[in-house]
Order: sequence, then C-alpha cells, then structure tokens
Amino acid sequence: MTIRLVLLGRQGSGKGTQGARLAVHYGIAHISTGDMLRSAIKNATPVGKAVKEIIDNGGLVNDELMGSLVQGRLGEPDARTHGYLLDGFPRTLPQAIALDDIARARPINVVVDLEVPRELVIERLTARRAAEQRADDAPEAVERRLALYEEQTAPLIAHYRKQGVLAVVDGVGSPEDVFARMVSAIVNATGITAPGGDGRTSR
Ligand code: AMP
Repeated sequence: MTIRLVLLGRQGSGKGTQGARLAVHYGIAHISTGDMLRSAIKNATPVGKAVKEIIDNGGLVNDELMGSLVQGRLGEPDARTHGYLLDGFPRTLPQAIALDDIARARPINVVVDLEVPRELVIERLTARRAAEQRADDAPEAVERRLALYEEQTAPLIAHYRKQGVLAVVDGVGSPEDVFARMVSAIVNATGITAPGGDGRTSR
C-alpha cells in the first residue's frame, strides 16, 4: 500500500519542514503547490507571471489553475508509483472536491491536520520574514493569508473527517516531537510503517 497524504495546517505551522521530512521518511513525492508556484515565478513562466501579484499580496490563486497544476503533477510517474504528500493543496472546498475526483482511482489515505495556534504562527512567520524576505510574510499579507485559511481551508477539516481519513496532530513542540507524533498518527490511520525509514531521531 502506498501513502497518499494531504497535509493541512496554518501558514507557519511547520507544514513545509515536516512535509519535506515525512516525504523522505516514506520515500514519497513532496508536492508543495507554494514551491511549484514560487519556482514558476522565478522562471518567469506564463503561470508565474499570472500568479506573482496574487501571491505577493497573500491572496489565493484560482481553483481551476491549481486543479490543473496538481492533476498534472499527480500524473507523473513518481507520484503514481510511490505515492505523495500534498502540502498547500487543497486549500478550498472546490479544490478538495477536484482532488477527490483526480484521485478517484487511487484515493488519499490520510489527511494530517497540523494544529498550531494563531498567535504562535504569527511569531514564526515574523521570524521567517527576517530570514527569507518573502513578500507574503509582510504583516498585511500574513493577516490576509491567515484569514483566508480560517475562511476557505479550515472547512476542509470537516470534509475529510466525514471521509474518515482525518488525523489531528498537535504541532506545538520541538520539530522532533512533532515529527514523531505525525508518524504515529499516520501509522494509526493507515497501518503503514515507513519502508526502512529514516528521519527519526535517536532520542
Ligand atoms: P504556501 O507556500 O503553501 O503558503 O503558498 C504560497 C502562496 O501560493 C499562497 O499564499 C497562495 O497565494 C499560493 N497558493 C499555494 N497553493 C495554493 C492553492 N492550493 N490554492 C491557491 N493558492 C495557492
């Protein structure tokens, strides 16, 4: 059985870091739509040009474009064969419904909701702004992104709970502790233990 996982969590919840690590641990593709879009912007592709301003302002790219980007990526051999971890998609109910359709033949087997309180993610994003200088980590853009998360993305929790695939994980703590919690939540939800796996600390 392969893992097809969706990672939900506020901006600054540690989703990116934990997602990269989980993908290595399970030998699956790490598909971050934010990274895909930032690389399109960097390479000045037509998609990049179309989305730059939206992203800088902390808005959401339209569902049709996101659906076709993800559909294309999930059709690639690595994702089809080894499974994947989606980070940053879906972010709206229409995107979740599109994903149900895209993944109909090989459905998502676990959705991990990484829970970190709003006050804590604001602190983390402020620190990241200093380190990475992302335009969308500016205070107004952060406000907008967090508001959109509550409004558009939080409802996905109920969508996946209904499907019986939701696992809620407390994202507060050291990265090692949070990682261990995620791995045990994934084992509980799917019965899958890592193939040989690394990424665990020796503690
Ligand atoms: P992230 O790195 O996941 O926070 O994504 C950075 C930005 O890319 C977001 O603030 C959105 O502007 C855009 N983006 C990434 N994924 C999506 C998505 N699934 N739907 C709409 N916009 C997205």
